[in-house]
Amino acid sequence: MERTLSIIKPDGVKRGVIGDVVKRFEDSHIDIVAMKMLYMTKKQAQGFYAVHEERPFFDSLTDFMSSGPAVVMVLEGEGVIARYRKLMGATNFEEADEGTIRRDFATDIEKNVVHGSDSPESADFEINYFFNSFEIVA
Ligand code: UDP
Ligand code: MG
Repeated sequence: MERTLSIIKPDGVKRGVIGDVVKRFEDSHIDIVAMKMLYMTKKQAQGFYAVHEERPFFDSLTDFMSSGPAVVMVLEGEGVIARYRKLMGATNFEEADEGTIRRDFATDIEKNVVHGSDSPESADFEINYFFNSFEIVA
């Protein structure tokens, strides 16, 4: 059974689409096994996105991620990493398929509503970044 980390980013929380995003997981029979709201510091956002440290958008991205509350979740299911990436849609909402979360709710390449891990290795790092084992339901 695979796990992945989902974040409803600060733009999604501000625009009131927590329920819409969660509904898509439920409709897709993707299990939520952990969930909490948190307000990342700039440092926490930098640590989370450390793989993008050298990218030109790093500073703006970590400002954005620490600009308001976010909802972090652990999702579980067979092939959930790829299934959730498909539900999210492309990074740039203008290139995202119809019916994906980003296509339907994103407003900007940066403010794109959701995050999802891209591999088992990043899922492992990202889940452990926000959750300890007691916070994930068995
Ligand atoms: N991002 C951005 N400009 C870009 C590419 C990415 O602002 O040109 C932001 C966007 O919020 C994206 C995040 O950086 O979700 C991480 O980028 P990544 O390439 O990992 O995209 P993702 O895995 O989120 O689709
Ligand atoms: Mg990524």
